[in-house]
Amino acid sequence: MRYAIISDVHSNLESLNAMLEMLKSDDGLLCLGDIVGYGPNPNECVALIRQRVTEAVLGNHDVAATDNFGVEYFNPIARNAIEWTQRAISKESVDWLNTLSYEIRAPEYLMVHGAPKNYFEYILDKRGASRAFKNTDARLIFAGHTHIADYYKLNADGTIDHAHMQNGGSLEIAADARYVINAGSVGQPRDLNPKAAFAWYDDAQNTVEFMRYDYPIEQVQQKIRAAGLPEALAARLEVGR
Ligand code: ZN
Repeated sequence: MRYAIISDVHSNLESLNAMLEMLKSDDGLLCLGDIVGYGPNPNECVALIRQRVTEAVLGNHDVAATDNFGVEYFNPIARNAIEWTQRAISKESVDWLNTLSYEIRAPEYLMVHGAPKNYFEYILDKRGASRAFKNTDARLIFAGHTHIADYYKLNADGTIDHAHMQNGGSLEIAADARYVINAGSVGQPRDLNPKAAFAWYDDAQNTVEFMRYDYPIEQVQQKIRAAGLPEALAARLEVGR
């Protein structure tokens, strides 16, 4: 089966719509959290994902929007946006987000927002990846949270390789290795490529294809400004950081 892996949609409806257009009816959809926060369309994004998703886990912005959890760790811009989101989000959206869990384990993979066990930790280097491999026995760890498309490969000899995938590209999953796979961000890329990111995972072919695609950035920027959300959240979309 082919699955689209998406993460960090962050209420960016235009990018989510462009991504969903690439999804065929028999594809699965795995969502790694942070559906809301930062962007202007939290309820629309929750509704679309809710209706189409195969499995989804919670991100820190989802929990902050529904429970005010962890807001003290947010920077001023993120905090301003989460307060906006808390006012905008519907009870229906909150109720559905509250049904999600922090991790989902399938035989071949683990889905988490940040990292195994420490769900909101950022995997930013080989040390972080090493911790992640120790904290689960899943062969594939699907994580988001950094908004950076990349992967770490744990080789049979214990060494770890790292590859940036900010321009897209494909990965053949080796039978004797384990991986942390980060598909990047649908709604707010931070790997210096403003094109939006997701990945295809094919469990029959044992491949991951890192994708980048265009979406109408200016429309989202106009909505961010019209909503009174911080200008920095509009500006960052066109530079991808
Ligand atoms: Zn995020």
